Amino acid sequence: MTGETSIAELKGVGPALAAKFTILGLKTVDDIVDNYPRVYQDFSVITPISQLRPGVVTIQAKVQHVSGRYVRRGMHITEAVASDDSGSMRIIWFNQPYRAGAIKADHDYFISGTYELSRGRLSLMNPSLELASEFPLNTARIVPIYRETKGLTSRQIRQAIKQVLPYIAQLPESLPNWLLTEQDLMSRSDALRTIHFPDSTNQLAVAHRRLGFEEVFRLSLASLLNKQENQSAPAVQIPFDQKLAKKFVSNLPFTLTDAQRAAIWQIYGDLQKPSPMNRMLEGDVGSGKTVVAAMAAIMVMAEGKQVALMAPTELLARQHAATIHLMLKPLGFDTQFSLLVGSMTAAQKAKVHAAVSRGDCQFLVGTHALIQDKVDMKNLALVIVDEQHRFGVEQRKTLMAKAGHMPHVLSMTATPIPRSLALTLYGELDISILAQKPGGRLPIVTELISPNSRAQVYQKIELQLTAGRQMFVVCPLISESSVLDAKSAEAVYDQIRTKDFPCWRVGLLHGKLKTEEKTAIMQRFVNHEIDILVATTVIEVGVDVPNASVMLVETPERFGLAQIHQLRGRVGRSTHQGYCYLLLSDSSAPSKRLRALSSTSDGFKLAELDLELRGPGAIYGTIQHGALDLRIAKLSDTALIAAARTSAQEFIDKNEDLLHYTQLNSHVTRLRTVTNLN
Ligand code: ADP
Ligand code: MG
Repeated sequence: MTGETSIAELKGVGPALAAKFTILGLKTVDDIVDNYPRVYQDFSVITPISQLRPGVVTIQAKVQHVSGRYVRRGMHITEAVASDDSGSMRIIWFNQPYRAGAIKADHDYFISGTYELSRGRLSLMNPSLELASEFPLNTARIVPIYRETKGLTSRQIRQAIKQVLPYIAQLPESLPNWLLTEQDLMSRSDALRTIHFPDSTNQLAVAHRRLGFEEVFRLSLASLLNKQENQSAPAVQIPFDQKLAKKFVSNLPFTLTDAQRAAIWQIYGDLQKPSPMNRMLEGDVGSGKTVVAAMAAIMVMAEGKQVALMAPTELLARQHAATIHLMLKPLGFDTQFSLLVGSMTAAQKAKVHAAVSRGDCQFLVGTHALIQDKVDMKNLALVIVDEQHRFGVEQRKTLMAKAGHMPHVLSMTATPIPRSLALTLYGELDISILAQKPGGRLPIVTELISPNSRAQVYQKIELQLTAGRQMFVVCPLISESSVLDAKSAEAVYDQIRTKDFPCWRVGLLHGKLKTEEKTAIMQRFVNHEIDILVATTVIEVGVDVPNASVMLVETPERFGLAQIHQLRGRVGRSTHQGYCYLLLSDSSAPSKRLRALSSTSDGFKLAELDLELRGPGAIYGTIQHGALDLRIAKLSDTALIAAARTSAQEFIDKNEDLLHYTQLNSHVTRLRTVTNLN
């Protein structure tokens, strides 16, 4: 038997049952070994019959007087008497007529089931029963319960796992021995056996720790190796020009916050080094990341090198272009600056392409197409990526091929990333945080609105609109769905335009619209030719309309907390008080999650809470858990994460050769290439 052996070859499985396993994605021996139980049922305590109490019990007894009969059509009863040294009791099985013929009178059995009242007598109802002389699968142990499917029960899965126990027993270790000793970890083969058939709850915890540790260790090792590789690549050193920095700052209409200063200082430090920067600038919506990015860019331009800024949408790219262009003007850098987006005409694009390859254009802003396109940026030294959670290794390599060297990379995100995630998922990045917001902003008032208070909220909104403000309405879906019980942008748009706010100009914005349509509608909202913009989360990233002061979120239950937090940042961008109304879809008490939104404006706290309550998917709606490979480890287990991360660093410091660890190597190699997590 090897890991690749088909399940169909196992004793008692066969092609028909193997087909059921396939439904669960299980084809080979390794697949079922890797298919961890969902939960366990503890049948491990064997109780003398005389001491039984109602509930889930296990006894060890002989079974006699087995008899079966039909009590009525379709209802068969098997009755028996179980006896041990302490006493006797009744067992009943419903509709299992084969029982009578299968029980040997003079053998000892383990019997596990529910001991409860049946027609006035305490009996053991529908128990599992196994010969005490054999390895118990379904009784007298902590019994694993798996994901099941029609025609495939946990009982059958246990039977299959039992067949592969000899294979598990000889599985080689995947981690270095020194690490097992140092971290007091169970061996891999013991851990895998234990996770399927634990000897005790304690042992199960030890196995969990071992397997969870390995998951985080792999992830940490992958990110540290990526970091090491990045740092060993040569980069263009960008000297710091203090005069230029001072000139830039003196032309700003505001003074930088301390957080902005600190971040810029770190970035300038990175740029002077001979290895490429790989830094993430993390800051809440409105914390002022753009100016930091612009300050990084000017040093590079002054050195005669090129900068590319990539935004996830054309809308955002245009907005950045406008803002940054203004900042560069006083320095005389504005003529070296261009926008390149998909909706430009071929002639316009060609002109930009030419300017870029001549080196006349030093700062190019656009969407991701910037790096895929035939853009020829030989002098590219800095890439700024906005609102991307991670700019992957592969993409960096594409750039390296283009520029002939690894450029410095600055990623910017408004998503607050809890420390545990930052360490595992983003371990290869250095992080700067803008924890402080520029002064003068009022915190956004967030209220949870039950369905029957809608009318009152609408009155408050009328007042805002009458005072000249604008409103966003955010919906989780574009079109009505027959499966999902959530409001769609199209339906809400009709409702608002015709019934709720017929006197105001209403627009609709969603991801299915053509780029030109999106840009046109957004532009009309910016120009205040539209009062109410009904949209999906396409507005989530970066859109800046200071006059918008109200946000309505329909079916907020369907959004992650960090996502709503990011959304509401759209209305906190000026001196007008911002309001965010979460229109709950039913009138029962709102969840702890949603209530947190009205009680805190700390994005980090909200992200931590979502991580705890709903897992990482809630923070990054589209993140692939599979890619993370975390099935056992909890990102909330900070001790485990810290230990695994330290160990990964130690592995590198010891100059361990990953090739000596076949298993580990294949996982780490795959994780290193998992790039687009957003
Ligand atoms: P984000 O971090 O969300 O990208 P922006 O860079 O768009 O934030 O900045 C939001 C707004 O705050 C912009 O209008 C910007 O001009 C302004 N801003 C940035 N830094 C400061 C500051 N130090 N003081 C006052 N306003 C600032
Ligand atoms: Mg921004």
